[in-house]
Amino acid sequence: MMNINKLREQFPVLDQQVYGKPLVYFDNAATTQKPLCVIERERDYYLHENCNIHRGVHYLSQKATEAYEHARQTVADFIHANEAREIVFTRGTTESLNLLATSFEHFFIEKGDKVLVTTMEHHSNLVPWQQMVQRHQGQLLVVPMDDNGVLDLEQYEKLLQESPKVVSIAHISNVLGTINPVKQMTAMAHQYGIPVVIDGAQSIAHHPIDVQDIDCDFFVFSGHKMYAPMGIGGLYGKAEWLEKLPPYQFGGEMVDTVSFEKTTFNVLPYKFEAGTPNVGAALGLETAIQFLQGLNKSEVEAHETQLLQSAIQQLSEVEGIRFIGQAEQHSGLVSFIIKGVHPYDLGTLLDKMGVAVRTGHHCAEPVMTRFGIPGTVRASFALYNTIEEVETFIKAVKKAAMMLR
Ligand code: PLP
Repeated sequence: MMNINKLREQFPVLDQQVYGKPLVYFDNAATTQKPLCVIERERDYYLHENCNIHRGVHYLSQKATEAYEHARQTVADFIHANEAREIVFTRGTTESLNLLATSFEHFFIEKGDKVLVTTMEHHSNLVPWQQMVQRHQGQLLVVPMDDNGVLDLEQYEKLLQESPKVVSIAHISNVLGTINPVKQMTAMAHQYGIPVVIDGAQSIAHHPIDVQDIDCDFFVFSGHKMYAPMGIGGLYGKAEWLEKLPPYQFGGEMVDTVSFEKTTFNVLPYKFEAGTPNVGAALGLETAIQFLQGLNKSEVEAHETQLLQSAIQQLSEVEGIRFIGQAEQHSGLVSFIIKGVHPYDLGTLLDKMGVAVRTGHHCAEPVMTRFGIPGTVRASFALYNTIEEVETFIKAVKKAAMMLR
């Protein structure tokens, strides 16, 4: 059994009062809290190792470079990439997706081309592709979903026949909690020779990721959603793809040779890492991974599942509740609305009771349009949350709903 109290000692931020009430932090899908070991790793870097990397012959620069490259290897191992050079450090999921959209655009997007996404994408996995195809009079193809928030794979197959240049899909929806069958969807796209990008922002902290098993061509994620610092994340790409794609930004260590007439570019992954990277955060990311690796995966998963199931079961007793997202394959969060109660008002009242949830469209407006609602209340869980917190949350929801109706 996981000792949650002991674990929570690693997260001092959780131990505080909000408006005189103990904080219940259920906004983990937006960002997780950071354990002390991660905070200390970053601090330690600035205390003892800070230096710009890859450029210096001196001791500190070499030490920082080694640590940064070690972190890259740790990320590669964590998601089971074949090689460390298949990992590009970025600021996070959004930057990784912008990198890919820009790079694909320069590589092979032509007039009228299409990109395939799904109805449940976060704006970060929608707008970069939309803007990119629109610059070429192309269009987005969108896989629909049913009322439970499950993708329609028959339609997906049909849309693949329209020859999109890229498929880009969420592993887990940040609104619905649906776990999409990304391995199957990747295999289907590959039958048509289409490369697949997986947005792993919501999956990486909760489920083991094996990019070789999924066989996706790209996998993107954010460190801050997996107990690591903000401002760091990654892009995994199969080496054969990253080799082909042109750079996204220019300057710094991404070059090989430069003259006024011509520039040649560095090898992978440096070709995609222009400018000075966030070294301290990359080391924090490595420590967050080690922190996760030090826990018993199945215990963590069982604990998070228990939190979710308990929340869903108790919420279903609330009068007028409507769950948004009821897929069987569901993870990490619950989204809902209550008849006659605006999600924003409910979220504001919950906050006054010490409960932090997210309300609104969660950067996925097309999902709201699909369900004909203005927004939802979303409670999302992490390994440090407790069953007692779920109970506090339920009591607060019931009380707030009564006050607002
Ligand atoms: N994709 C999904 C599914 C998300 O949930 C999020 C953030 O909530 C993002 C992309 C964007 O992540 P970031 O803001 O860390 O770049």
